[in-house]
Amino acid sequence: MTLFRVLEEAFGAQDWWPAQSPFEVMVGAVLTQNTAWRNVEKAMDNLRAAEALSVAAILALPEGELAALLRPSGFYRIKTARLRALCLFLERRGVAVAPEKLAAQGEWPDLRRGLLAVHGIGEETADSILLYALNLPVMVVDAYTRRIGGRLGLLDDHLSYAEVQARIETELPPADVPVRNMLHALLVALGKGYCRPRPRCDHCPLNARCAYSAG
Ligand code: SF4
Repeated sequence: MTLFRVLEEAFGAQDWWPAQSPFEVMVGAVLTQNTAWRNVEKAMDNLRAAEALSVAAILALPEGELAALLRPSGFYRIKTARLRALCLFLERRGVAVAPEKLAAQGEWPDLRRGLLAVHGIGEETADSILLYALNLPVMVVDAYTRRIGGRLGLLDDHLSYAEVQARIETELPPADVPVRNMLHALLVALGKGYCRPRPRCDHCPLNARCAYSAG
């Protein structure tokens, strides 16, 4: 939480996740796998222009047409299958019209298990959906989290996703969605601005607390 406050002071409040609805968050969480966000935005624009940003519209599209719309996001055939699988899951759960109502169908660990059973939904994607689309208190672990935590000397490289998540969760106030939302956003801001593959430590707000920077 000390690091959280330092980052909040440095970067201010973050507007995250960039989407216009919970369903858009879910779609973005699938499309952002292994690609930059600017490519996701192009695919989202395509879906929007085709009036296909709903569960029913996506399931109604022929597979080839959906794949063409998703093409800018890369790995588009794989993502076509994954997005259709997610939409079928939401339809089966009876929340196709209002996917955010999934949050009312159980405790988040059960919902997480359900999402992880969907083709192509891994831990990071499931947790992004839980936190950002469903407003549930789940910490998202991504490549920025691992890189920054490792360099700070807080996380070992060999830890699994679940171990990293549990390690961070012990530091956070329980059931606090805004803190988890903001922390992930702040780590992304730090990872993009300073803690890049080649880090810019000189002006990094965590410089004085970082094992990597201390050499
Ligand atoms: S001081 Fe350098 S290595 Fe440490 S968090 Fe900042 S950018 Fe990353």
